[in-house]
Amino acid sequence: MAQLETCWNEVHRRIDKTCRQAGRDPSSVRLIAVSKTRTVPEITALHALGQQRFGENYVQEFVAKWEALALPALEPPLEWHFIGALQRNKTRAVAERADWVHGIDRLNIAQRLSKQRPDSHPPLQVCLQVNLSGEPGKAGVAEADLEPLAAAVAELPGLRLRGLMTLPAPSTDPAEQRRPFRRLRELHDRLNTRGHRLDTLSMGMSGDLEAAILEGATLVRVGTALFGPRNAQGTQA
Ligand SMILES: *Cc1c(COP(=O)(O)O)cnc(C)c1O
Repeated sequence: MAQLETCWNEVHRRIDKTCRQAGRDPSSVRLIAVSKTRTVPEITALHALGQQRFGENYVQEFVAKWEALALPALEPPLEWHFIGALQRNKTRAVAERADWVHGIDRLNIAQRLSKQRPDSHPPLQVCLQVNLSGEPGKAGVAEADLEPLAAAVAELPGLRLRGLMTLPAPSTDPAEQRRPFRRLRELHDRLNTRGHRLDTLSMGMSGDLEAAILEGATLVRVGTALFGPRNAQGTQA
């Protein structure tokens, strides 16, 4: 696990360096450790280093890890971010366990999550996923449909709309990497001028977190740079 500590420190070094470059306070960027396909001992080892936020993509895998880590409760408590695609028949498991959901791109999924959120829990914090490439079939709401979706989601009592998320096509060119992140920030700011109170940009992964932070990311979702490469297949829900 010494390797994990080295990687964790390195990711924080990258975040801090980029924040200095951007004139941002490093505490304005939160790290989500994307633990999909990773084991429970890897999660607890990272938590022992001080990592609190974890991201999972597959419902079944998320539930299994959540159950395994629920008791004895870790201190400080884990914060779970569901960052994968969510099907209608799997919303309840997430509504009952997650702290955040990042991939909301349809009202009916948001409505189900709101209805299924237990009253004993605080509202589920959500980001709307935006498809900035315009490719049909890709996850995310189209830009043209974002405002009406945001307006409808903001009304749901079981949810709290926090911001926007995007997952652009990978690029190794820093200027190219920044373009969709800049666009997401513009959309975020525009929603705020229309009366929303968003404070979250979930953008940036292992290969492009610098570009995302330079454009205003507040949550970066990092897997490979922390844990090493995943198996090609990953784990399916
Ligand atoms: C897997 C995944 C990540 C992490 O990607 P890395 O390149 O391994 O850092 C981030 N966000 C989402 C939505 C993912 O599915």
